[in-house]
Amino acid sequence: MIDRATAAPRLSCILPAYNEATNLPRVVPEVLAALARLSPHVELILVNDGSRDDTWAVAAQLCLQHPQLVLIDLSRNFGKEAALSAGLDHARGDAVFIMDADGQHPTALLADMLAAWTRGFDVVYTVRRTRTDQSVLQRRLTRLFYGLVNWQARVKVPPNAGDFRLLDARVVQALRLMPERHRFMKGLYAWVGFRSLALDYEPLPRLAGETRFGLRGAFGLGATGLLAFSATPLRLMGVGGILLSLAALFYGSWVVFEYHFLGIDVPGYATIVAGMMFLAGVQLMSIGLLSEYVARIYDEVKRRPLYLVARQTGHGLPDVPDAA
Ligand code: UDP
Ligand code: MG
Repeated sequence: MIDRATAAPRLSCILPAYNEATNLPRVVPEVLAALARLSPHVELILVNDGSRDDTWAVAAQLCLQHPQLVLIDLSRNFGKEAALSAGLDHARGDAVFIMDADGQHPTALLADMLAAWTRGFDVVYTVRRTRTDQSVLQRRLTRLFYGLVNWQARVKVPPNAGDFRLLDARVVQALRLMPERHRFMKGLYAWVGFRSLALDYEPLPRLAGETRFGLRGAFGLGATGLLAFSATPLRLMGVGGILLSLAALFYGSWVVFEYHFLGIDVPGYATIVAGMMFLAGVQLMSIGLLSEYVARIYDEVKRRPLYLVARQTGHGLPDVPDAA
């Protein structure tokens, strides 16, 4: 292990990019300049996540001017979580930054993050101070999501923590050991633990282009987060079953009581139909939820690679033997 306080650290920075051709010529030099102020040994790993615009051509052009650039071209769009995994697999720095390629993450924060790392923190993550760019509905859903994920969970996922963070090489190593295909990175970061520090920040507006995480994308990731990271939905199903059984027990007792003591013959037709439909609905819903888990198990056991690299250019940091 290196002495964080004295040695010039080797820094990696990962930028996942999907259709960011217009942003890269501004973001890449800016990030490189910020990194250069921190250490002479840096690499910038740009993961092209199957962009449909000319992100790759633009990145290759930038690569000619900046030898610190490593380009990884995935064979198709695998999604941000997979692109991040590709970046983490290739990062060789002592500390690894993760940023967006759209200029939303202020480079001014990198120095503070590294300072925290120097003081001994292994994970420095950023928490967005406000969510004013999102609708009330989105914010409500976000709160509900974190509430559900963290309900009774041993490992709490910090709410509103983003992907913009610094990871120590040991944390990166730990993340590489995570074999799951359905990746909810925020959950994985939380799961590996290590000494963590949160920094507040205000996300900048996107330079150009549009976010790929609208309400639908957020729902998809939210579902992955919930299903891959907590058994809460399964538990709720169990709780629902218990409540329903109790209700049925009480109702049944009441009917018996009515019949024997009040002498009321309960006409059952409507009750039976309503009860059957309700219970069939609950059962189908539960089976549907179970199927979600089964489908994910099916995906996991296939053991497909998380991403495929079509091509790669640039060398990045040289490997150092452990003794160094
Ligand atoms: N991204 C990616 N693959 C995708 C979608 C997004 O690599 O399938 C990258 C994107 O280029 C950007 C980052 O992930 O660098 C965040 O994406 P975006 O700005 O759309 O999300 P938001 O900032 O709204 O969370
Ligand atoms: Mg963005």
